[in-house]
Amino acid sequence: MDSYDFIIVGCGIAGASAGYELAAHGRVLVLERESQPGYHTTGRSAALFVQTHGPAVIRALARGAKNFFLDPPAGFTEHPLLTPRGMLLIGRADQSALLDHNFAQSSRHIASIRRLDRKAACALVPLLKEDYLVGAVLDPEARRRLRSAGVVVWLDAPPHTLAERVGSGWRRPLLDEDPAGTLSRLDAVRRPVYGELANVVLRVGGRRPQALAEDVIRASRTLLECGCSAGTGPAVGASSW
Ligand SMILES: Cc1cc2nc3c(=O)[nH]c(=O)nc-3n(C[C@H](O)[C@H](O)[C@H](O)COP(=O)(O)OP(=O)(O)OC[C@H]3O[C@@H](n4cnc5c(N)ncnc54)[C@H](O)[C@@H]3O)c2cc1C
Repeated sequence: MDSYDFIIVGCGIAGASAGYELAAHGRVLVLERESQPGYHTTGRSAALFVQTHGPAVIRALARGAKNFFLDPPAGFTEHPLLTPRGMLLIGRADQSALLDHNFAQSSRHIASIRRLDRKAACALVPLLKEDYLVGAVLDPEARRRLRSAGVVVWLDAPPHTLAERVGSGWRRPLLDEDPAGTLSRLDAVRRPVYGELANVVLRVGGRRPQALAEDVIRASRTLLECGCSAGTGPAVGASSW
């Protein structure tokens, strides 16, 4: 009969992870009653890495796992485990205290977390109904990742130019009604964020795509060559190029 140093019951992400770590210390058997690993909760996960979700112990586990996801051991995978996103936690008026609590807890560990009022939340996700919400908590971790990943270029076009360009076609349900108004509202909310993030701001105006593309390449090359783009500090050269 085979013998094992460790026997793990259940091969969801918890069992598989424990097995992976324990394999360095002895023979491991992972038992799973379903036809395949990860059949239950793990298989239903949306696969979002979020450090502000769940009770304190889960949040601590998520924070502890972060470096592994960002920089897995050599040979673990050929593909990045994380790609940048952000997360918006929304609440109704009767959930306002919960939202405040979540914000207070989360901002202790993640300084970039922001409390948004209903207008700002709806401008970020126009699908939301303004009269349903009291506000939201935004985890913009994804933005920091963008800044640390390379050069961020903001093609700054006024809302009326964007409205002319995108029109109100069936491909853009958000802009079906009042595209100019929607784009203006989005612009007001997003402008400070884009300004904070961008290494390079190119004013689009009526310029030709070819000329803009050449500017993007030139600016990116200059920043990459001088090593001025990476890092999480304040934007470098966030001005008109
Ligand atoms: C819809 C949904 C979306 C989610 N989205 C996210 C997300 O975006 N990000 C995130 O971090 N988390 C998310 N989660 C939570 C996350 O999926 C779970 O926290 C995680 O998958 C739990 O893993 P686990 O290994 O503990 O449990 P499970 O995945 O449930 O694994 C337990 C395994 O044990 C097996 N088992 C149980 N009893 C026995 C037994 N007696 N003998 C043999 N095998 C047994 C089961 O068959 C199962 O395969 C989501 C969850 C759901 C449901």
